[in-house]
Amino acid sequence: MTKAVCIYCGENKLGALVPCVACKTAPDTKIDRAKSILLSDHCLSVSELNFRAVRIRNGESLEFEEEQVAAFADALMDQSSLHAANRAIHFIAIGFAAWLFVAIVVLVYVDIDWVKGLTFGLLAVSILPAIALWMDILGNFLRRFRS
Ligand SMILES: [Zn+2]
Repeated sequence: MTKAVCIYCGENKLGALVPCVACKTAPDTKIDRAKSILLSDHCLSVSELNFRAVRIRNGESLEFEEEQVAAFADALMDQSSLHAANRAIHFIAIGFAAWLFVAIVVLVYVDIDWVKGLTFGLLAVSILPAIALWMDILGNFLRRFRS
């Protein structure tokens, strides 16, 4: 677990981006998130963290290197867009599952030849990318558990 210092009140907390137990504040802007990560054991030794924590508690302002803050803020943005891409892929996978369900229902219950033919054709075209996508998601899922 990440040992971090609240950038607002100087209290110790576990996890750079979680709300602080003492002042209930969570870093919600990109810049504050970046500063919060810079004030964690990802970036500083425990003694350096303690030194800065005391400074914040005494009301002294901390100086951050602007370039470092900007670099972290950019990295955070990349991560959240990665998150959005992941969500989109899951959305598509669920869409495929719903389509598969509809196609099976149509093939089993609908007695109109051209509707069946069309559904079967679309199913044949879409089933391979759908399986590839599901295998990919399943693979990622299993990898997360193994590491
Ligand atoms: Zn706090």
